[in-house]
This record gives sequence, C-alpha cells and structure tokens, in this order.
Amino acid sequence: SEQPTNLADMVHRLAKSRASAAAFEFDGRRTSFAEFDILTNRVANGLIALGLRPHERIAYLGKNSDAYFELLLGAMKANVVMTPVNWRLAAPEIAFIVADCKAPVLFVGPECVEQVRGIRTLLPELRVAIATEGGAGEWQDYPAWRDAQSPDDPEIEIGRNDVAIQLYTSGTTGKPKGAMLSHANLLNLLENGDGEDADWNRWTADDVSLVAMPIFHIGGSGWGLLGLYHGAKGVIAREFDPTRVLDFIEHDQITKLFLVPAAMQFMVRQPRARTIDFSRLKYILYGASPIPAALLKECIEVFGCGFVQVYGMTETTGSIVALAPEDHVEGLERMRSAGKALPGVELAILDVDGKHLPRGQVGEIATRSGSNMVGYWNSPEATAKTIDRDGWLRTGDAGYIDTDGYLYIQDRIKDMIISGGENIYPAEVESTVCDHPDVAEAAVIGIPDDTWGETVRAVVVLRPGRQTTAADIIGFTRTRIAAFKTPKSVDFIDALPRNASGKILRRLLRDPYWAGKERQVN
Ligand code: ATP
Ligand code: MG
Repeated sequence: SEQPTNLADMVHRLAKSRASAAAFEFDGRRTSFAEFDILTNRVANGLIALGLRPHERIAYLGKNSDAYFELLLGAMKANVVMTPVNWRLAAPEIAFIVADCKAPVLFVGPECVEQVRGIRTLLPELRVAIATEGGAGEWQDYPAWRDAQSPDDPEIEIGRNDVAIQLYTSGTTGKPKGAMLSHANLLNLLENGDGEDADWNRWTADDVSLVAMPIFHIGGSGWGLLGLYHGAKGVIAREFDPTRVLDFIEHDQITKLFLVPAAMQFMVRQPRARTIDFSRLKYILYGASPIPAALLKECIEVFGCGFVQVYGMTETTGSIVALAPEDHVEGLERMRSAGKALPGVELAILDVDGKHLPRGQVGEIATRSGSNMVGYWNSPEATAKTIDRDGWLRTGDAGYIDTDGYLYIQDRIKDMIISGGENIYPAEVESTVCDHPDVAEAAVIGIPDDTWGETVRAVVVLRPGRQTTAADIIGFTRTRIAAFKTPKSVDFIDALPRNASGKILRRLLRDPYWAGKERQVN
C-alpha cells in the first residue's frame, strides 16, 4: 500500500488498518489505534480552540506517558510543533527552553507541577498550563480538557517539509540546541525497513516495543513513533528503572527495546537479569554514546538476545548507521564499529577544510540524507555552520570508514586530547580502563600540562567492594594500549556525572582543571 504523506495521515490510516489493536499501553491503560485517532483529533481541536496557529510551538514537561504521544500526534494534526522538554534539567534551563520556543501552552506531568510553579515568573509568554494527570484549581485537567473537544479531524493542511517536532540536543558539549525535524525527516526514519533493508529492521504488527528511554530525546520519541508507524503495540514506561524494565520483558512479551549503554549497564548488573527469559526479545537496539567493549560482552552473555547498535544524533532524526545482529560476534573486528549506513544515507569523512577523505582515513563524520534536520531553531548561523550548501551535515564526531563501508566512531572532536602532538580519543582509553576487573565505569579527560600541552587523566568508579590503586590501573592499561594513550594519573570517584541520555559529562570533570586556561579545540 502507498506510504502516508505525513504523520497525521499515518494515524488516520492506522485507525483503519489496525482499528481495534493496541497502539499504546501505559499504567494499565490500553489505547487502540481507532481510539488514538479520535483522541489526537480532540487534542488538535483543543489546541486550535486555545488559539494556536500552524507552526506555533507547544511544550511538554514530564516523564513518559500515553498523554505525551496523544499531544505529539494531536499537535501534528493541527500543524502545531511539539517541543518536549528534559525535566531533569535545572529550573533556569527549563525556563530557557520553554521561553526560547515561545510556547504559549505547556503540558505538565504530575512530577513537574511544582517545578513549573517555581519558574512561572520566568515565562511571561505562557498563557495556559495543563496538568496531564490530576489537574485541579489553577491547573486545567488534560483528560477533561481533551474530552470536551470535537472528535472530528480538523483537516488542517500539512506539508511534508513542515516542522513536526522540535527536539533539543542532549547538552553533552554545551547548551542544548533546538533541532527542527519535519514530517519528511520523521517518515524517512520510520520508512527504513520498508524497502530493501536488512531483516532485523522489519517489523510485524505482532511486535511489542518498550518505550523506556525519555521522550524528550529522539531515542524516546523516535522509537515510540517507529512502533506506531508499523502498527505495533508500544508499552510505555514512565521512566527508566532497571528492575521495571526486566518486569516488562518478563511479563509484557516485549520484542523490541531501545536502550542507551548506561541503561544496559544498570540492567546487566541486576542479579535478577540472569534469571529472566529473554527469548521473546528479538533485539536490544542501543546507541547514543560509546559502549565499552566489556559492557557489550557482558550484555551479550547475560541477555542472550540479539543486539543492534545505532549511531546518529538529534540533528539526523536519530539513527543513520546500524550494526546488525549478525555483526555482533566476539573477535570480529567490525564489532567495534557502529555499522553501516542505513538505506538512503550517505556518509563522508571530511578534513578541516571540508575535503572528502579516502576510506580508512580519520576525519570528521558528515552525512547527507532525508533525515537531516530542517535546521536549528532561531539560529541560522549555527545551522549554516552545521549543514553546508550541498546538504552535508557535520556531526562533530571523528571517525573513519573501512573498505567494507563500516563506520568506526572515535569520539567527539571537542573531547579529543592532544598530548605531545598525538591525537587521543577518550572513548578508546575508557573502554580499555573498563576492561580492568575492578572498574565499574571510567571517564577520560585531558588536563593541562606544560610539557605535553595536555595529559591523559582517567576518572574511575570501582565496582562495589573492590579496591585497587592508580598504579595498578595505569599498569593494566599500559600493556593494552600505546604509552601516549595510557593515563598518567587516575582519580577515584563514587559516580560519573551523566545527563539524561546516560552520556558522561566530561566537560564537568575537565573544566576545573582548565580554570583560567585556554583549551585548544580543533
Ligand atoms: P549536544 O549536541 O547538545 O552536545 P549530544 O551531541 O550528546 O548533545 P545527541 O544529539 O543526543 O546530543 O547525541 C548525538 C551524539 O551522540 C553523536 O554526535 C555522538 O557523539 C553520540 N553517539 C550517538 N550514537 C553513538 C554511538 N553508537 N557510538 C558513539 N557515540 C554515539
Ligand atoms: Mg551533538
């Protein structure tokens, strides 16, 4: 059958083809595709009644919920742009995003109501706040508001290149940037697997996906939309909790799951993980940050299901590269890669001047496809710096492509350490330090040094009950990687600073050492 022209059209079609099947399950509540179509019509009509015009933004601040997906697709039906906000940010950061996108209407999850009270004065343009659960008093109640609206499709015109969602980047290297993603961008992601694509990427209507990663990132929203597009059931977890995810796998027939490596680490270290039957799970799709080799090995042993690695960014509507289950073989060189370009995705390795480098040479990873964002919200200069006139998007990541087309990601260029003129990629050193049996996790940073410019420092979290010395870790690493990459010093701490995507915030570890000094960044 022919493809939907936009995501509102997708919902209408599913209401016909999958009418009584479950679209979402959340908190014991089941929503069929036919119901979802009507609920999203009601949301669209409600937004129009609130005065929202096409291309205006609304914001959502809260944990994962079925209400969020109703609001996301409902907004699309009114051609209004949903901006989900990371509830784990500090109050001024949240206020910055809501004010930046000029949303006059904010939907708030029960866990964030207090937070919004605290920042209300910072949001002069905010007219309406609606609580998704248990609204009362000054707060409108979402289900009551929604159900008071007409169930008919508002029939608003939607262009393929109209912005469908505005997602902020994770803020790993600095302030989060608002990436505008169009219907065409999202359809490009969702249609992968429809064509000549790999087997693992196919979905059936019997698939059950678990949405356990936060919806304010592409890994949460994109993953939820992927299952929806294929008419599969999406089980929504309010937030990531390793024991709850194990419960879902055990009791809810989950067949597909997206996790970030930090979440896999939490799960695999639960003793219960070893007693659970993972045989219904076709694969765990993982990505968003480098995965230490030892962690991947541990997950393969303990879970025994298939694994797919993906690489991408908010600006590329998520995955553009994937490493298939059959490439997850211990001892195979490609298991260290992020995989091959998905259908329709072009990859290139560029030097500093933007020249395309040959296979095997290291440079900046660039990509071109229908998944490249429309641009950064309110920042034409930043957009122009990121996407060139030919449509190549610079990722800010360093890597190379081998002769078989496999992409090896080395690290973020901003985090690369230059010591005595040698380039060192922290991810490689971190993975090696993590091979040490006493190490739970590690971050590697460059600290200032008068002789070498920078030297390598490892910041290490030990496994519970283990003890070891800096000299031991340095000695262990030295036998496995070159001397210039080996940490010169080691710090032991209780936990690494991470953001909501589980990415290690190296800048927070590094900045104190550079106070008053200028760090050279390529
Ligand atoms: P910000 O741009 O605000 O600093 P961020 O780059 O972490 O934050 P995202 O768009 O969520 O925001 O993440 C994209 C980045 O995540 C990529 O540029 C890359 O550095 C990293 N990444 C994604 N997938 C992988 C992977 N499979 N292996 C290694 N790194 C990955
Ligand atoms: Mg980024």
